[in-house]
Amino acid sequence: MKKTVVVIGAGLAGSLVCNESVKEANVVLLELGDKDKVSYPRINFIKKKLAEVKTFCFGGGGTTNLWHNGLIPINTKDVSSEYFSELLDEVKPYADKAASRLFFPNQSYTSEYENVVSDMSRESEKLGVFKEGIDCLLYPKKFQRLEVDAAVDSYYSVENIEFESEGKSIAAVTFRSGYEQHRINADAVIISAGTFGTPRLIGKVLSVLGVSSKDVGRGLIDHPLGFVGKVKIKKHLARTMHKFAMHDKGDYEYCTAARYKSQCGRYTCFAFFRPALTMTNRLSIYKYKSLLGASSGFERIKNAFSFKIFHPDIIAEIFSHLFGVTIRSRIFNVLFYFEQKRGSGQVSYDGEVLNIDWSITEEEMKVYNDMLEQVSVSMMSVSDEVNIQLPITEQWLWSGAHHSGTISLGGTADELLDKDLKLRACDNVYVCDGSVIQENSYANTGLTIGQLALRLAERVSRP
Ligand SMILES: Cc1cc2nc3c(=O)[nH]c(=O)nc-3n(C[C@H](O)[C@H](O)[C@H](O)COP(=O)(O)OP(=O)(O)OC[C@H]3O[C@@H](n4cnc5c(N)ncnc54)[C@H](O)[C@@H]3O)c2cc1C
Repeated sequence: MKKTVVVIGAGLAGSLVCNESVKEANVVLLELGDKDKVSYPRINFIKKKLAEVKTFCFGGGGTTNLWHNGLIPINTKDVSSEYFSELLDEVKPYADKAASRLFFPNQSYTSEYENVVSDMSRESEKLGVFKEGIDCLLYPKKFQRLEVDAAVDSYYSVENIEFESEGKSIAAVTFRSGYEQHRINADAVIISAGTFGTPRLIGKVLSVLGVSSKDVGRGLIDHPLGFVGKVKIKKHLARTMHKFAMHDKGDYEYCTAARYKSQCGRYTCFAFFRPALTMTNRLSIYKYKSLLGASSGFERIKNAFSFKIFHPDIIAEIFSHLFGVTIRSRIFNVLFYFEQKRGSGQVSYDGEVLNIDWSITEEEMKVYNDMLEQVSVSMMSVSDEVNIQLPITEQWLWSGAHHSGTISLGGTADELLDKDLKLRACDNVYVCDGSVIQENSYANTGLTIGQLALRLAERVSRP
């Protein structure tokens, strides 16, 4: 007999889970936002604001309405938790399928990825300064937001989701849609409401089961990122450096970043080198560059109305990233993606107001500045000029929109989830989205979330 699987959240993870599960099970989707329109919650930033632009949204497709669709795996050699690293190994076989569901045009993402990394590793040897190697992000040229299959019984703009328990299971999910109250008997419930939405729902599940929910929502991490300096590469190496910026492979593009390890070995970060025209570091220009890059559609047009658009570095960025024209300059902007570790960062709700307690710790700032000193020294041998901003303060960094870590996963009873993404306290509730990513080094998380979603759908929907 077919199972009934209730999926909550129609973002990156939820859409993939629905579309895969519906091949075997009856799937009911509950989404807080509208089907075809995005909305944003009211946020109270307790410490640091994530960014000037929106870094997530509600609605059909979730944050795939905003994202850039860059695909990269999390390298298990950078992951310190053995348990999480084993999970990443287990979902490796799903990488090609996940990439193809995320619009990667070629049959095998994995072999394309391995080929470009190996090509660029050879290029990087010509520079001889990237001791920790390089990594590549692959961008399908054609992509759109994810959509849920018509065979899924979908409800949008749902309100008041509640859970009914029977022993250690959730027997039914109730909710309101329009003026109607609904009750769905569930064999399994998969919560995919994202790093900021899932903790609230897991809190409700635990409360109905009479289990403490004190650590739910704790452990928020992101990639603090920022433009941290400029380098003027020696003439004979400039052509090689340009290959790092963006490479056209027909139906996809890729860009390459240099990996850096902290001296303690705990943090792995990466740096992109993007063509620029001046050697100055101005935070206001960097912030504007990020605003233009991360916004889209009407927001981007609105942001373009600023005198800052005439700054030479912004013109270089527009030409190289928006029009695909490479500026033949020897100057490159250094864009760093730093790693964070799960700690006291937290997500909570006061009624409908979302509290986000995100910050960069003093230890992290010290590690980042030590790393930038390494970069500054190492780049001297291949550059005519190096101007890395030292030290940077947290003002120079903002969210990379790879929010993760708000639901704990590990090998002990203290952690909420096990490797099957199952809530330990409950027999039939699972979580799959950015909240379950415990460590993300420097890697964008979309591909990994996709891999986890496909494996979970396969296992849970089986009759
Ligand atoms: C500008 C930008 C560029 C990005 N570029 C990349 C990139 O190139 N590569 C990459 O890997 N990542 C990128 N990302 C990040 C990526 O988009 C996210 O990591 C990913 O979408 C997260 O997926 P998710 O399923 O965890 O959450 P989401 O996609 O955010 O989905 C969560 C869903 O749950 C719904 N929801 C929330 N609360 C509830 C509730 N209580 N009840 C019901 N439904 C609920 C939401 O409406 C939403 O539909 C980018 C992000 C941004 C903002």
